[in-house]
Amino acid sequence: MKIIIDSGHGGKDSGASGFGVKEKDLNLVYARLLAVKLENYNIEVDRSLINDHYYSPDELTDKIKKSGADICISCHNNAANGAARGFEVIHSIHSQGTLAKLTAEEVRKTGFPVRRVFSRESTAPSRVGQDYYYIIRGTYPTVETIIVEFGFMDNGEDFKLLTDPAWQDRLTAAVAAGIDKYINSSIALKTRIQGNSILLPEQLKAALKAVNSAANTSIVDTYYRIAPVYGIKADLAFLQAVHETNWLRFTGVVKPEQNNFAGLGATGPSNPGLFFPTAEAGVEAHIQHLYAYAATTSIPEGRTLYDKRFHLVRRGSVTYWEDLNGKWAVPGIGYGERIVELQRTVAERYPLPDKPVTPEIPSTPHWAKVCHDELRKAGLLLNDHIDTIDQPATKGVVFCLVNNLRKELIKNE
Ligand SMILES: [Zn+2]
Repeated sequence: MKIIIDSGHGGKDSGASGFGVKEKDLNLVYARLLAVKLENYNIEVDRSLINDHYYSPDELTDKIKKSGADICISCHNNAANGAARGFEVIHSIHSQGTLAKLTAEEVRKTGFPVRRVFSRESTAPSRVGQDYYYIIRGTYPTVETIIVEFGFMDNGEDFKLLTDPAWQDRLTAAVAAGIDKYINSSIALKTRIQGNSILLPEQLKAALKAVNSAANTSIVDTYYRIAPVYGIKADLAFLQAVHETNWLRFTGVVKPEQNNFAGLGATGPSNPGLFFPTAEAGVEAHIQHLYAYAATTSIPEGRTLYDKRFHLVRRGSVTYWEDLNGKWAVPGIGYGERIVELQRTVAERYPLPDKPVTPEIPSTPHWAKVCHDELRKAGLLLNDHIDTIDQPATKGVVFCLVNNLRKELIKNE
């Protein structure tokens, strides 16, 4: 579990203001304190976005998605009409808001007013069914992002507390406590469909070979090539195929020639499901079906839609592998858990190879060693200087050398 903290605004964008204080400066204080508080819970914190730097929305959401964090806390402070006050948390419209609610609950205990916990859907026609706030919209569903508005800096009472170090400490401690509660709750223990793989292709190939020596392991590479295009975890997608096909032995109703690795459309012996022309197409259809569940956006540009059942899925309705139960597989009790369990098993039984020992690089001789040795051989350098060859020579040494050379030249005339 890793958390990335974003100090809202920065650089040319100073955000709101109140009583002569810029929001971006106050956000930095809160972001830094929150990082310390979370680390006290032994939570891994990515601080790379705690700075006074301006990022465009795309840059910011890209950095968050690529950070490998599970959760992003974007730290802000509000301003409105001077009268509004209190703490607010905003979560994704796709989330139950558990993280946000637990955080607000802890803040309420401090006595600081909590104004609201909410989510907001975009009203733009092109963003129907998406979040209003870009940092939440742009990071969903790879990272669970919440925006924390610690208080209203244009409200006199809030401002006094927000700028008081004791309250800064209490508020960030409360937020950290809420986050820690969430992490220890069952929801956070679920595994996201989207994100990066934990396993390397080699580990999965080794596992596949061990169970089914006849299998063509290049299918693993196909998963690792296609899944990231859709932001889907390649290792778990492949392990879903492993689960569905019994390690590519196709012992169920689906036959190998169908290239249908995840039982798409298969309901029983009389209906073995979809056929795909190639293994590539079959893998892509599988990934597309996962993408249909996990994401709300259309398939990446330039890709062919192979999954004929794509439009039957309620888009964005499943974020976690564990929640495929009863959806991908019916009744599917423990379906998603078994796929995640396979990932753990492979990681344990086929650990990453130890880092290869760096072979000793044969030391290349010093560039000037040849000259040194030849001069010595010719008797022009009386002492060995190889240990100090990079040190500057005194005028005296140069004079001696040139003089020796001069004498040598005269001698040979
Ligand atoms: Zn702000």
